Amino acid sequence: MNRVCIAFGSNIGDRYGAVSDAFKLIEENRMKILFKSEVYETEPYGYTDQPTFINGALLVETELSCREVLTRLLAIEKDLGRVRKFKWGPRIIDLDIIFYNQEIYDEEDLKVPHPDMQNRMFVLRPLNDICPKYVHPILKKSVEEMLKELNKL
Ligand code: ADP
Ligand code: MG
Repeated sequence: MNRVCIAFGSNIGDRYGAVSDAFKLIEENRMKILFKSEVYETEPYGYTDQPTFINGALLVETELSCREVLTRLLAIEKDLGRVRKFKWGPRIIDLDIIFYNQEIYDEEDLKVPHPDMQNRMFVLRPLNDICPKYVHPILKKSVEEMLKELNKL
């Protein structure tokens, strides 16, 4: 069985509704949700002239490969009506793979651990709720440590 950390976010429409629909679809796609973080209201990152996000994270257990997880998460985003207009723009639902076991993927369309996670409070804070001791396989730091460092900046 594989352990996967997934970050989720939403900033248009019925944000809480979209997140709860996403949980249901994740479970229907052979990913068992073991832990859910708190859901946080966060200011937009990157392109800041857009509505406030809700963000959180899940720890799931699955037999799916990392690639299959990606394919299914993208299908779920599409199902929930996400229209991708531009990078960092508004979205009904965003589902990102943060960690897949301790494995590293560096492909054009699949980068795990998520390459910018250590700089994103809205990823680290919820991750810290569900897996503070999870160690980043490249940076060799725990979620807790990465959060502490980001808080110091
Ligand atoms: P972002 O989540 O960075 O704001 P998008 O969700 O619009 O941007 O980007 C989606 C694309 O990112 C997908 O088509 C996918 O192939 C690629 N991608 C690369 N690594 C990952 C990952 N770890 N999790 C989710 N998508 C990823
Ligand atoms: Mg994404």
